[in-house]
Amino acid sequence: MSTLIDPLDDGPMPQPLRADVAAARTASANLLPDGVGTRWRAIYTDSESPTGIAPVCTAESDGERHVIADYPGGPAPDPDGVYDCCPDPQIEIGSVPLAAYLVALLNADAAVAEEGDTPAAALPTTEWLLTPDTLAAIDDLIDRDGVFAKGYYERISDSTVITGLRIGSGPGRVVARFGDTIVRHADGTYSVRHAVVETGGAA
Ligand SMILES: [Zn+2]
Repeated sequence: MSTLIDPLDDGPMPQPLRADVAAARTASANLLPDGVGTRWRAIYTDSESPTGIAPVCTAESDGERHVIADYPGGPAPDPDGVYDCCPDPQIEIGSVPLAAYLVALLNADAAVAEEGDTPAAALPTTEWLLTPDTLAAIDDLIDRDGVFAKGYYERISDSTVITGLRIGSGPGRVVARFGDTIVRHADGTYSVRHAVVETGGAA
């Protein structure tokens, strides 16, 4: 039995990750020393400003290690400083905003990786039951996947009414009507499993 997901209740789905980003992330993580996490921070290298980046120091937890001991007037906390406990690599970027940007990118990617650390090609198959109530949410999810989707209209008894969702464009498009199940495959393509129509027990 397949799992049906109600996209209205499920919150935002993790974006499928580009396979090249996921591969680069894995290669990078394998180069970092053991015990180093996936989060980065801006650091003061030898300049007056936080123009460098480094992995977050996992040795520091209670603010005891990153301290300027001889600060005038008494020891001062130095969360952006670099000490013997801090892991490599400590990379000089040469720019405060660029260092901040790189830290933000790296940490955003780490957060995405925690949500679903798989390239798009390895995403599990997902199924959604299409109903008038789920149409808008499913439409959004498919659009965010980078696949064009829009309401599908048919002429019934002299009026044009929405009867489902059209997914994709051109010859490869598929149409799901209300009651059908939309299947997103692991390779990012879509198909439709049509609702079983009762035929009165035909063999
Ligand atoms: Zn440290």
